[in-house]
Amino acid sequence: ESLDKGLEKTKDSFFSKLGKAVMGKSKVDDEVLDELEDILITSDVGVETTLKIIKRIEERVSRDKYTTASELDKLLKEEITKLLAENNAQDIKSFFTNTAAKPYVIMVVGVNGVGKTTTIGKLASKFHRAGNKVVLGAADTFRAAAVDQLKLWAERVNVPIVSHGMNTDPASVAYDAVKQGVDSGADIVIIDTAGRLHTKVNLMNELSKIKRVMQKVIPDAPHEILLVLDGSTGQNAFIQAKEFTRATEVNALAITKLDGTAKGGVVIGISDQFKIPVKYIGVGEKVDDLQIFNRQAFVDSLFK
Ligand code: GDP
Repeated sequence: ESLDKGLEKTKDSFFSKLGKAVMGKSKVDDEVLDELEDILITSDVGVETTLKIIKRIEERVSRDKYTTASELDKLLKEEITKLLAENNAQDIKSFFTNTAAKPYVIMVVGVNGVGKTTTIGKLASKFHRAGNKVVLGAADTFRAAAVDQLKLWAERVNVPIVSHGMNTDPASVAYDAVKQGVDSGADIVIIDTAGRLHTKVNLMNELSKIKRVMQKVIPDAPHEILLVLDGSTGQNAFIQAKEFTRATEVNALAITKLDGTAKGGVVIGISDQFKIPVKYIGVGEKVDDLQIFNRQAFVDSLFK
């Protein structure tokens, strides 16, 4: 299905390299581990997380006496599964399994071009089809295209949208969207925000102003600050995660465009490095190509 297809490039590249690394090898030796390290790093697992995985495999090879290189697949799968479990302890089946908040307010952050608008549209569709009442807020008021695109999604998905047009105050859009969510008995309000990274202080001020204003309506909003990252940008995604986690309290990740890249390892590295659960992954441009992240399904699909 779409997860398998979406991860195909990562899987193919990873296992063809891994296959070559162990070919003709009778045991997991330092050379195999060095190769594995390279493969993980080129899959954008990130240096820190790669070293952690290698260390754990080294320990198990010596402790459990893994001798054949063909067993490396199994070891690797187990260690990646464990690692993902540490940061994604509860896979989120539904957005409100662990909250009674109504409406549940999601503030979506991320730089331009990562797939923020598309992700919001796909989310709105997912929630709407599951029978939830959704309100969108177009608070990325710096780009006309962002407002227009979100409007298109709202129309397509058939959910209401609050928009004051371009160059209006984003905080005021957020306020009105949350207010409309409350007044209309909505289950979820999703607020788009501007993805400019001019200066860290700007970003921080803007996001905290949006938060402050929506808290006038719902004191503990936003319940979720979802950072959208483009999975095909590798190290840039790590840098953006760093910037945004410094600017605001990101508590969920959406990693997009995994279908177009062999660097899907970014999912493993980012969640490990930032200790933030990956909640959604984007595996294509179609409305159904946003999936609730399920770590077991993810690993199974990589190691199928
Ligand atoms: P924004 O600037 O962050 O709001 O980005 P957009 O939502 O406009 O997305 C930028 C481009 O990425 C669009 O062409 C989307 O169709 C595309 N896109 C978004 N998510 C995915 C994904 O998971 N897979 C693929 N292949 N394309 C995606």
